Amino acid sequence: MTYSQIILNKGKEFSLLRFHPWVFSGAIAKKDQYLKDGDLVEVYSNKLDFLGMGYYAGGSIAVRIISFVKTIIDENFWFEKINKAYQYRIQLNILNENTNVCRLFFGEGDGAPGLILDYYDGHVVFQAHSWGVYIQKENISNAIIRVLGTELKSIYDKSSETISKHFTEKTKNGFLFGSIETEDVLVKENNHVFKIDFINGQKTGFFIDQRDNRKLLGKYCKNKSVLNTFSYTGGFSVYASKSGANKVDSVDVSQGAINLCEENIRINDVHNHQCFVEDTFEFLKDKKNSYDVIILDPPAFAKSRDSKHNAVTAYKRLNATAIKLIKKNGIIFTFSCSGVIDKMLFYNTITAAAIEAGRNIKILHYLYQPADHPVTPYFSEGEYLKGMVLWVE
Ligand code: SAH
Repeated sequence: MTYSQIILNKGKEFSLLRFHPWVFSGAIAKKDQYLKDGDLVEVYSNKLDFLGMGYYAGGSIAVRIISFVKTIIDENFWFEKINKAYQYRIQLNILNENTNVCRLFFGEGDGAPGLILDYYDGHVVFQAHSWGVYIQKENISNAIIRVLGTELKSIYDKSSETISKHFTEKTKNGFLFGSIETEDVLVKENNHVFKIDFINGQKTGFFIDQRDNRKLLGKYCKNKSVLNTFSYTGGFSVYASKSGANKVDSVDVSQGAINLCEENIRINDVHNHQCFVEDTFEFLKDKKNSYDVIILDPPAFAKSRDSKHNAVTAYKRLNATAIKLIKKNGIIFTFSCSGVIDKMLFYNTITAAAIEAGRNIKILHYLYQPADHPVTPYFSEGEYLKGMVLWVE
């Protein structure tokens, strides 16, 4: 098997030698003029030393590296990659008798940019974030079948909204293996049950990355009144209700999300909960001294560097509002899932919000994404979720 070769400009090999998996278009000295998006390529330094293999794309990130050694990219290659990711999660006991939902493969963190696999009790949602991954989907789905064996119930391709617009016409969401025709998908996370609608829900159906943070929330909710803003399908709400809160209110603008939230509350048999389909900022207007615990987990306010400034303003406004209105000795779980807002900037934004609110704050915890969303020192861009737990006097 031969692959097309790309040769870099002099001095542009260093990031690859440090295992950073992106090659920017400006680093390229020579490439085949007929290269198409998604083609597999080998990358060489200007001195013709082999550096890595990956998929080519026409944009500013020209190659995404999937192997730093020479190999053949076939079903076996994907089997090794996905099996390694699966075994890592088994070894860390992320999948266990109380939890059967996790991110099975997290892009660069697991060694293949653009590939996301989420595992819902045997159902796997495949999400390609680049065309290069998408055209490997048959190899990838055959590899998943081998890795999971009889445990596998279905594989659903949900790539049409994550692939570049350029290719959306060529993609259609649907099952690559099995189906869910006859069942509701119910999963357990730390023994809390959630119904998952990966076909119609946002992202792959559930925000798996908040598992550890939801568990921590449970410790602070006994006999408290809790507000979960941007609640989506009620992940934090279920934990709060189950851990003995007096009252839990969930707020989300999406009626579909709230419908599933109500179902999740019912499935978990809790009776201290109310849902509101409303904009969080509107909802908070008349809620002074109503809650002991508030969760702020908004969608990514900044999706790119251009929107960073507006995002910081929005995070500051949201947090200052919550800090002002929370009851005395209240607790706020606050998050940002914007990759471009790094942890220092988030910390500074929360500090600014506290100063604006004029109340005394203690920082109880710094929070991150869990181990099934691995961050490597070679690719710090993979760190996107950050949070803080605040005590407000
Ligand atoms: N905390 C959730 C995930 C939040 S995702 C969990 O653990 O599952 C962000 C949610 O915010 C989405 O459900 C989206 O519908 C909702 N949303 C976006 N803008 C909003 C707004 N202005 N007010 C309320 N909800 C909003």
